[in-house]
Amino acid sequence: MEQSIVRNKFKELFNEEGALFFSPGRVNLIGEHTDYNGGCVLPGAIDKGMLAEIKPNGTNQVKAFSIDLNDYAEFGLNEEDAPSQSWARYIFGVCREMIKRGADVKGFNTVFSGDVPLGAGLSSSAALESTYAFGLNELFNLGFDKKELVLIGQKTEHNYCGVNCGIMDQFASIFGKEGHLIRLDCSTMEYEYVPFNPEGYKVVLMDSVTKHELVDSPYNKRRQSCENAAAAIAKNHPEVKLLGDATLEMLAEVKDQISAEDFMRATYAIEENSRLVSTCDALKAGDYATVGKNIYATHKGMSELYEVSTVELDYLNEIAKECGVTGSRIMGGGFGGCTINLVPEDKYDHFIETAIARFTEKFGVSPKVYPVKISDGSRRLA
Ligand code: ADP
Ligand code: MG
Repeated sequence: MEQSIVRNKFKELFNEEGALFFSPGRVNLIGEHTDYNGGCVLPGAIDKGMLAEIKPNGTNQVKAFSIDLNDYAEFGLNEEDAPSQSWARYIFGVCREMIKRGADVKGFNTVFSGDVPLGAGLSSSAALESTYAFGLNELFNLGFDKKELVLIGQKTEHNYCGVNCGIMDQFASIFGKEGHLIRLDCSTMEYEYVPFNPEGYKVVLMDSVTKHELVDSPYNKRRQSCENAAAAIAKNHPEVKLLGDATLEMLAEVKDQISAEDFMRATYAIEENSRLVSTCDALKAGDYATVGKNIYATHKGMSELYEVSTVELDYLNEIAKECGVTGSRIMGGGFGGCTINLVPEDKYDHFIETAIARFTEKFGVSPKVYPVKISDGSRRLA
């Protein structure tokens, strides 16, 4: 990320210098649709993110410039001052959520720019709000701890951006650590760093450039199926509240009491939870072959049992297999977006070339390629 672009613009607009903050986007290695089933996710911060220069301006007005959208916004800090531009609402929302928690946030000047692709599933929005949550906390000495900053980012999305997200994205952005993934229980915010040092491998995302949206109704239907299965199991096993507590044997006992569809969804959810556990063990042992197998198994489950894949994503997955990629799967809720791929270095160029050529031939559009490195979370740069 070019600091000078942000620095120069800030100087040009405000004729002064501020402090520089950075927060990353994230990937999730495994653990998809596990959060609402009481399981864990395994995200990591990446080396792409949002860079913001910020300086308190002694007023109650925020003056903000987005370099990437070439757009300026100016707004106050009261509820009725909400800006109309959606990008500015992330910054406004962070201020409001802090003020609601009793913080004395004042006006500031700011310029920002990022290199997380928007809407590709790498969480550019969390990078944006985390940068301001982290930066304002420091500049105004607000004393929020990191978990509070995560919640401030999440509530910003809920209350000011109309996105009903969990906490994974903000948590990964703020807590990210180079060489580590974060095994995170989204319902309790308990977490553990798991080593991730895939020497001899590269991590790359292949963007199917099909629309990434968690289409509400299929998403809600998946949740409902999981709840139905969990409720049926709970009749025999009262200790089971969510599928995260259940086993495939328990599910087999209620096969005749639930629909075939609910059974399939629940099978995926239970298997995905155990794949996450097995993947963490494999990572601790440095066993990337097992990690890769689990990643492929997740794709298969998401495609055939949970049915949230697309033809484009399945095609990318097939190509990965043929090119000797160690692990490949849909990342995110499904219905579009990227695959995440763990690729042996000596197979990398061949995989990328083949995927671009064959995908373009079949769908008439080139997939986008985002190589990533697992990196540190929110920080001050200068
Ligand atoms: P993602 O999956 O990348 O988080 P979202 O739809 O949640 O996608 O967030 C994208 C929104 O975040 C954009 O519409 C914009 O308002 C804001 N945003 C993200 N990156 C930038 C950027 N570099 N500059 C300005 N706004 C950004
Ligand atoms: Mg987002």
